Amino acid sequence: MIVGIDLGTTRSAIAVVEAGMAGLLADAEGERLLPSVVHYPKKGAPIAGWPAQRQRALDPARTIYSVKRFIGQRTGDVREAERQVDYTLTGNPLAVKLGEDSVSPEAVSAEILKSLKARAELVLETEINRAVITVPAYFNDAQRQATKRAGAEAGFTVERILNEPTAAALACGLEKLPEQARVAVYDLGGGTFDLSILELREGVFQVLATHGNTRLGGDDIDQRIVDWLLERIDVNPDASLRARVREAAEVAKVALSTETEVTIQLPFVLGDTSFECVLSREKLEALATPVIEQTRAHCRQALADAGVAAAELNQVILVGGQTRMPLVRRRVSEWFECAEYAETRGDIRLGDSFHETDGPTLNTSQNPDEAVALGAAIQGAILSGDIRDMVLLDVTPLSLGLETFGGLMNVIIPRNTTVPTKAGEMFTNAVDGQRQMLVHVLQGEREKAVDNWSLGKFELGFKSAKRGAARVGVQFEIDADGILHVLARDTATGHEKVVEMKSAVDVDDMAVQQMVEESVEHAFEDMDARKWIEAALKAREAVNAARGGLEEFADELQNADAIRTALDLVESALETENDLPTLKGAVAKLDEATLPLADLMMDRAMEAVLRQRGMLD
Ligand code: ADP
Ligand code: MG
Repeated sequence: MIVGIDLGTTRSAIAVVEAGMAGLLADAEGERLLPSVVHYPKKGAPIAGWPAQRQRALDPARTIYSVKRFIGQRTGDVREAERQVDYTLTGNPLAVKLGEDSVSPEAVSAEILKSLKARAELVLETEINRAVITVPAYFNDAQRQATKRAGAEAGFTVERILNEPTAAALACGLEKLPEQARVAVYDLGGGTFDLSILELREGVFQVLATHGNTRLGGDDIDQRIVDWLLERIDVNPDASLRARVREAAEVAKVALSTETEVTIQLPFVLGDTSFECVLSREKLEALATPVIEQTRAHCRQALADAGVAAAELNQVILVGGQTRMPLVRRRVSEWFECAEYAETRGDIRLGDSFHETDGPTLNTSQNPDEAVALGAAIQGAILSGDIRDMVLLDVTPLSLGLETFGGLMNVIIPRNTTVPTKAGEMFTNAVDGQRQMLVHVLQGEREKAVDNWSLGKFELGFKSAKRGAARVGVQFEIDADGILHVLARDTATGHEKVVEMKSAVDVDDMAVQQMVEESVEHAFEDMDARKWIEAALKAREAVNAARGGLEEFADELQNADAIRTALDLVESALETENDLPTLKGAVAKLDEATLPLADLMMDRAMEAVLRQRGMLD
């Protein structure tokens, strides 16, 4: 039996398919969602879930929440504002400080997974050790790897890392849609946002495009309420008060999805002073609007990437607890120009959801915070053979490639390629006698290597050869979990290295979606930079060749001075560092001037060959 796990930023859930039915497994109290919170008491074993959640206000320094934001991340990857948590982060890669010790985000996640595992074993009365675990579509390789390690640490064989939106579509049973149906999955959870466009064809899912932000969600709305409340409470909050205010803020937010007004009470905020105030839905919506508006650009970009207009979608599926908020539903249905939608869940049913209207249907058929775990369980059942006739395809969110001569990005697997996939390219040595090649793996959309994310690098030694004579084949393989394996091989000796890209993305605080936005923003200057670098490489090659030739044949050439003048021109053009037309002009002149030289060199080379073969005396 393979269980499905939604390892969420704020809540996690575990589901299983039994007798063809997918269902969530509840704990002894009947709770289906598990807070993704782990408390580490000073003595004794860590505790996860509800009891840990209750410790957040009491012992904030030893109670870890939202750890998904840090999994597989290095310090520079996480923005300062996102590091504002009630516990202390330390080290690189990021870990959580607990007194003298520290604990990794993987280990914290493993505690959550262990708790879910125990729950499943209790309910199913059998040992469970195989799982499908979901991650946001935008998780990079390091984050996926870390999630997989967390699963292993909890005692699972992780059969598949599955993208959350794909899982949601599975849960909605969308394989039953008519041929060529397209859907958008809008997932706004506690700490992550994703918008994915999927296409369904003959029972096969394909992700056409995904866009999102791994650090945007309901938590940000809570934070805005907290700020608003703290302004009113007007005392200097310690960590414990902060945690209490946050808790109250979330309770109020959730209540305001069904109420129009709530009273927030905080007894004994300072000594025996209590605090009380009223928050209206209207005010909440004003506070939340900037957060929700941020998701709009991602929706637009995903549509653009997929080449699909909103009106061409059949459905927009809402996923993530935060999409229970009426404001989110209103905005999303406005943006996607959805056909009439019903506020209450259950009014839209699969099968009868195709109205004769223009826009897509807003699909709220599943509980938004349960759909992902259900889909993961369905994927588990597909893998174990319990469900047949369904295949899943995912895509790469960002391009993967290598750094090449001159510091350019050489794309091997373009963005939005369906995985699993394999692609390769041959490279050669840049200088005579080179014995090592640096394989520098990059992820991103920019033309210059430095503007992309560095996934890792390694050296491959090869047999010393003349410039351009060595052949190193590099192959990228992305497996079904979205994990990248890089193989580099010296074709002369067969010597090779295979490296699984484990290292965290080694960049500053750049969010993934920024990469795409910036690549669009810098498209022209990036292209100019690439053209210049390529032209400069060619020019330097021409200069080196001409200099070598001159040294050898200057005496025999009538136009040696003209070549020297042309060489100077090229060199001064190279010094401009951006004047492409001048450089091209100078190189053209040099080419012309070196024609007699080239002829001469060719003749000599021919003579040498013939002499070697004994055909000349
Ligand atoms: P994640 O996938 O990030 O763990 P979930 O999908 O469980 O998150 O969503 C959690 C977020 O949804 C939290 O910010 C929570 O406050 C919010 N949420 C849950 N229920 C509601 C509700 N009824 N109204 C508004 N927000 C809600
Ligand atoms: Mg989620």
